[in-house]
Amino acid sequence: MTQDDALKIVKVEKENDDTTSIYFSGPDMERFKNRKAGQFASIRIFQNGEWSAPHPFTLSCAPGDDTLRMTIKKSGAFTSTIPDIQPGTPIQCTGPYGQFCKDIGTSKEVVMIAGGVGITPFLSVLRHFKEAAADNDITLFWANKTPDDAFAAKELLELTKSLKLNVVHVFSRVDPAEQQTAPNFQDDRPGKISHEYGRLNQTILMRHITSLTASFYLCGPPPMQQAVLDELSHCGVDPERVDKEAFVFTQKKS
Ligand SMILES: Cc1cc2nc3c(=O)[nH]c(=O)nc-3n(C[C@H](O)[C@H](O)[C@H](O)COP(=O)(O)OP(=O)(O)OC[C@H]3O[C@@H](n4cnc5c(N)ncnc54)[C@H](O)[C@@H]3O)c2cc1C
Repeated sequence: MTQDDALKIVKVEKENDDTTSIYFSGPDMERFKNRKAGQFASIRIFQNGEWSAPHPFTLSCAPGDDTLRMTIKKSGAFTSTIPDIQPGTPIQCTGPYGQFCKDIGTSKEVVMIAGGVGITPFLSVLRHFKEAAADNDITLFWANKTPDDAFAAKELLELTKSLKLNVVHVFSRVDPAEQQTAPNFQDDRPGKISHEYGRLNQTILMRHITSLTASFYLCGPPPMQQAVLDELSHCGVDPERVDKEAFVFTQKKS
């Protein structure tokens, strides 16, 4: 494929200091029409006169959107270039791939647990649920170090107004004495937006989960995943029935 018949970046949006969304579209979008919320795709970007190696990212948009969106956190060499990408840059995309959240639409009660940028499949699902006017009962735990890391907090607050969604922000590096006063975090939706401090543990989980027979979904870095599975197990949830996605990606040497 040449850079001329590739898809193109149409928008670059800074989410916070570490995280950026890219939007892209172009010819041959038909193959993405039947994608499911929560799936990922692999991209290569034309930079400095050559195509990058392929990297996988969740399609964070709703499946109905014509323009594809990925929300990417800086973690290494490739992802650190994302904030400087310009609209018009050619991009190749293969996919969609993956089974994560495949049956989430059929689950009446849903518990989503995200660590950091592991929120992206759930953003895709929630954006889809909003478009579909879904009536699932959803509890979303989102673990971050600080409120500044919770880049989608405002949108989640908005989503609580149209969905049966409770959001629990869990901040591991905030002194409870310094509780956030930024508008994104003010609890103007009592019972819909909650804040917890420390690691996501059994006590916090049990304070917000309304049904242990709900369908559980977990996406975050491997150490966080294992810790959360242990805590869920203490709550009485079998780790085997938790649908999991780890953003583990090892570049193949060629
Ligand atoms: C199914 C799937 C979905 C994904 N979805 C998303 C998503 O929606 N958003 C997102 O942001 N990511 C997502 N990822 C992860 C993403 O693919 C990787 O973060 C990305 O490919 C890393 O590329 P990189 O070249 O920037 O990092 P690399 O250079 O390959 O680095 C990868 C890891 O190595 C560490 N590392 C790099 N350099 C050093 C160094 N010098 N010393 C120590 N450690 C180092 C980094 O901290 C990082 O954890 C997903 C992964 C998978 C498998």
